[in-house]
Amino acid sequence: MSEYSVKLSVVVPCYNEEGNVDAVFDEAVKVLGERNISFEMIFVNDGSTDGTMKKLRSVVDRARVPVRVVDFSRNFGKEAAMMAGLAEVQGEYAVIMDGDMQQSPEVVLEMFDLLEGDDEIDCVAAVQKQRREGCLLSFFKRSFYKIINKAASVEFVSGASDFRMMRRPVVDAVLSVSEYFRFSKGIFSFVGFNTYYLPYQARERAAGKTKWSFRKLFSYAIDGIIGFTTAPLRFLTVSGTLLSLVSFIYLAVVVIKRIFLGDPVQGFATTVGCILLLGGLQLLGMGIMGEYLGRTYIETKHRPIYIKRATLDNRENSKENSENTPE
Ligand code: UDP
Ligand code: MG
Repeated sequence: MSEYSVKLSVVVPCYNEEGNVDAVFDEAVKVLGERNISFEMIFVNDGSTDGTMKKLRSVVDRARVPVRVVDFSRNFGKEAAMMAGLAEVQGEYAVIMDGDMQQSPEVVLEMFDLLEGDDEIDCVAAVQKQRREGCLLSFFKRSFYKIINKAASVEFVSGASDFRMMRRPVVDAVLSVSEYFRFSKGIFSFVGFNTYYLPYQARERAAGKTKWSFRKLFSYAIDGIIGFTTAPLRFLTVSGTLLSLVSFIYLAVVVIKRIFLGDPVQGFATTVGCILLLGGLQLLGMGIMGEYLGRTYIETKHRPIYIKRATLDNRENSKENSENTPE
């Protein structure tokens, strides 16, 4: 008998997915059931404002496989939802899957076979082959990966999503990273382990709409850069040093010209230009420092990453609680 109660735990973060959760559950049961894999489903209701929780309650009631639902007290974001789901995992393997039907359970089977077939692989991450997105967005994404891979010490793989299957030690490692500003792509690289990248084609979202806007993606990218590298601070030091050097040389030139060539000191435009340039650079510097400082401030508060309203479990009577997460 293995030390794990099931072979596979499927973690599904859900935020306003009332039109999808039933289908996600049924499809998983069908595909995984056909292969006789013993599995459990863990849904996290991330403060949905639609009927998602109602649908999840009915899934818990009708399910014949172990199902748990972690209900958040409000929307804490997908990162927090994934963490809460992973904290519930009882299986030997855990897979994170979106609750919008974009990721098919057939790919989950492929991941499963890879882990079963090779002890050396600890984690299988699905990588989207090609995405249908605007050229501006894809330009920003490419620049993001270029910048962060130059600056950070861990590697970020373009297109690798949160859709991945892990062995339990990887799950424990991810949970041990307890920072408040969570950037999963970075956390998965940070914990290391042997990762196999499996190309796959995402399907269209079945119902509802994506929660990502350009603004949200942009601030997520900034989170990633600030969370995993201090290179912007180094950039400030280097550019400050260079600017001082240039201004010393410039001053020397002005003095020499004045004394030896008798040139009058001139240049109203130069003065204004310099003031504006330096003012701008100083503000930029303060801004960058402020980004780090602000995050440090929030991080030192050690607030819980998520707060549960209730946990439903079809193997026992549902227990209502308001536990917080470990810090
Ligand atoms: N999600 C979540 N909390 C949020 C936003 C999204 O749990 O605050 C879930 C969402 O329900 C879905 C998954 O994260 O299951 C991916 O979200 P989405 O489909 O909007 O992202 P995309 O596939 O467009 O990258
Ligand atoms: Mg999606």
